[in-house]
Amino acid sequence: MVEGQLRRRGIADERVLDAMGRVPRERFVSPDQRDAAYADAALPIGGGQTISQPYMVALICEQLGLHGTERVLDVGTGSGYQAAVLAELAGEVHTIERIPELAESARANLAAAGYGGRVHLHVGDGTLGVPGRAPFAAVAVAAAALEAPPALYEQLEPRGRLVVPVGSADGQWLEVVVRTPEGPAVLRTVPCRFVPLVAGPAGAFSAPADG
Ligand code: SAH
Repeated sequence: MVEGQLRRRGIADERVLDAMGRVPRERFVSPDQRDAAYADAALPIGGGQTISQPYMVALICEQLGLHGTERVLDVGTGSGYQAAVLAELAGEVHTIERIPELAESARANLAAAGYGGRVHLHVGDGTLGVPGRAPFAAVAVAAAALEAPPALYEQLEPRGRLVVPVGSADGQWLEVVVRTPEGPAVLRTVPCRFVPLVAGPAGAFSAPADG
């Protein structure tokens, strides 16, 4: 995975490549998906959500430009995988998930993979950030918003970075937003496809379409 999917496609930060090599991705997928854990794809994790493709996780981490001591926020915990990779790269990781059932399984996944004590898990609406733990040097968002959530920008340190997929189901770009004295400096990087970032109070699994 590290060589074929990441380095070959241009991921060059050795700390990110090492982190991706260390986190056991099979711990973050359901038992029936274990054989596919290292596939070049997003995989279903329940509740209509997915664990992100390894390349996207690595790209987001690389764009955050972490050195090891930072406090970071991961929005959209899902399986907990991205939070675990961030725990390898930063000093303090907060992660927030709106679906309580997914947050519980992420908690179990993180503990089983040895990250239980290194990741602080919150349940709630991540579009509002985690104001009580702000400011963050970096914020990673794993779900697509129509625009970068203003609260996440406000919770950045000066020169802090927010990486967020922006767009609708029709098309999204991964944006890197840097907090500067002049306001947000936005860089559009690559086209991408993420599940939607859903604002509003945390809820349970939505009812399946077929009832
Ligand atoms: N980083 C995850 C990817 C999960 S997919 C992983 O590595 O597995 C995106 C997640 O964002 C889903 O679990 C979804 O429930 C969650 N999400 C969507 N809107 C959210 C919001 N407003 N606040 C917090 N989490 C949200």
